[in-house]
Amino acid sequence: MSDLAESRTGPAGTEALEPGVRPLVEVTGLTKHFDVSPPWLTRAVRGEGRTKVRAVDGVSFKIPAGRTFSLVGESGCGKSTVARLVVGLYSPTQGEVVFDGISMANLKSRRQMAPVRRRLQMIFQDPFASLNPRWRVADIVAEPIRAHGLLDDRQAVQRRVGELLEQVRLSARDGEKFPHEFSGGQRQRISIARALASNPEFLVCDEPTSALDVSVQAQILNLMKDLQRELGLTYLFISHDLAVVYHISDYVGVMYLGRLVEWGSASDIFRRPQHPYTRMLLDAIPDLEMSGRQRIPVAGEVPSPIHPPSGCHFHPRCPFANERCRLEEPPTIPSPAGDGEVRCHAVEERRLTEEVVQQALGRE
Ligand code: SF4
Repeated sequence: MSDLAESRTGPAGTEALEPGVRPLVEVTGLTKHFDVSPPWLTRAVRGEGRTKVRAVDGVSFKIPAGRTFSLVGESGCGKSTVARLVVGLYSPTQGEVVFDGISMANLKSRRQMAPVRRRLQMIFQDPFASLNPRWRVADIVAEPIRAHGLLDDRQAVQRRVGELLEQVRLSARDGEKFPHEFSGGQRQRISIARALASNPEFLVCDEPTSALDVSVQAQILNLMKDLQRELGLTYLFISHDLAVVYHISDYVGVMYLGRLVEWGSASDIFRRPQHPYTRMLLDAIPDLEMSGRQRIPVAGEVPSPIHPPSGCHFHPRCPFANERCRLEEPPTIPSPAGDGEVRCHAVEERRLTEEVVQQALGRE
């Protein structure tokens, strides 16, 4: 078996949690390796082979229609690469993305891609960089309507742009202004209006609130939840912050060094986390469940994805690591917390009793 095949997670499914709700997005064994080798002459002189970064390594998950699946993890864990793979900005090294039954790999020409592209859109982290500063807001929001040929008549486009601006709680008159005349939160609203202009069903949101103040973050998250309810949208939400995804997620997947180490319903992940890395991320955020626990900063640093640690990638930072963890990559197993999945030898061996966990955290 190849390294890639070995490192795949098993097929993750949300059907068990929501019988009868069709998965709109199915990601299976998604893998992306980037070649970061020095030029061939340098490699020849040094006698080195090619250098690859395993940015995403066998990630699988499904998102039911109308739900939010959040991917969380520290910077460099591969979550933003997953977002770009899902919308087709990168092509995978291995694995596939299926959107509403259509494999993205089968869309070879721009003509084949256009109708699917219309149905999925992306919102980026930086609302300052993602809007053309020379265009009026009305032209920015109208651009996808024109690009997809949704409306021809100028007045109809104008009316639709006004509706979209009001849908994101701006005014139709704001279309006359330029992006620099708005605050960060308002610019992110403009980005959302532009994303909604092509009537999509699926939005991939890559850290959409991380450049904003905390109070503005909450407003944007509330707006996104309202839009989901009004329009039946499905979200893939990317964030480094579990406290942010707490308010918006139906499902949460936790990534570490390119791999999905745990996923489950949001309530299982927040109330009964299984993987030591999920526990570590949760311990670092405010006490959202009001359980009275103290906050513990995330310890250690993410190792280089060029030379990831052997066995379980998390073992150098894990208080529960043993020899097996250093040698053997953990398989994906059903989570004892619910219908999700987890990759951890200690969970499989039932070593993580509450007493052991509390002792490791220095609470007893
Ligand atoms: Fe820790 Fe071992 Fe589980 Fe990895 S497999 S998270 S090192 S206990």
